[in-house]
Amino acid sequence: TIEVSDLHKSFGDLEVLRGIDFRVEPTEVVCVIGPSGSGKSTLLRCINLLEQPTSGTIRVGDVEVTDPDVDIDAVRRRIGMVFQAFNLFPHLTVLRNLTIAQQRVLRRSKKDADRVARDNLARVGLAEKETSYPAQLSGGQQQRVAIARALSMGPDLMLFDEPTSALDPELVGDVLAVMRKLAGEGMTMLVVTHEMSFAREVADRVVFMDDGVIVEEGDPAQVIGNPRHERTRTFLRRVL
Ligand code: ATP
Ligand code: MG
Repeated sequence: TIEVSDLHKSFGDLEVLRGIDFRVEPTEVVCVIGPSGSGKSTLLRCINLLEQPTSGTIRVGDVEVTDPDVDIDAVRRRIGMVFQAFNLFPHLTVLRNLTIAQQRVLRRSKKDADRVARDNLARVGLAEKETSYPAQLSGGQQQRVAIARALSMGPDLMLFDEPTSALDPELVGDVLAVMRKLAGEGMTMLVVTHEMSFAREVADRVVFMDDGVIVEEGDPAQVIGNPRHERTRTFLRRVL
């Protein structure tokens, strides 16, 4: 479970999150949509403490992330994060990209880390690429490696921040297919995306953010197909 209550985040005078409340239940897939600058990435970054919230509380499972004494590394180990940029280590093979944090952070043996890595490469359809370097892969393949790397840490939930926005259109489908499969396997996922068809088909719930607040949230067919608020309608007219 992710439970966010009255979350505020300011950068200097700029209040970017202005009182966010929402929950993600185990196995739920929640898509966050909204215009550029509305605070979507900041929200995700607060959940795994890449940004320090200004006020409010965030709980992930039974851990209060916003407790000043929280073990940040322990929080991050439970949360897999996939960004728009793939952030793979360019000088390491695909397999090593997947094992390095398992060995260093989780203290897994090389044998165990290799096994977990290979299982997850197979899961994203890239078993045959383990000896390749990131530069030898397409953008879509690199993003699938990034997903497999996050999964190799055994996270309780996955955060995705526009994972397909940097990809050529013909590569988007493969990445979305992997995410769809993960959703089907019961992974808890919070996904910032501009892919409305993905949100409509895969999300249990869609959250529309504008200007640092949640304007509306609900069933995807309702929020995307028949939004209640004019701001949501204006946004959807531009992206659909
Ligand atoms: P996009 O769809 O373009 O990714 P977003 O909804 O993810 O937008 P955020 O990246 O969360 O938006 O940014 C929200 C606001 O916060 C923007 O006005 C941005 O300029 C500002 N902002 C984000 N990070 C910082 C920072 N580290 N310092 C100052 N301002 C920031
Ligand atoms: Mg963003």
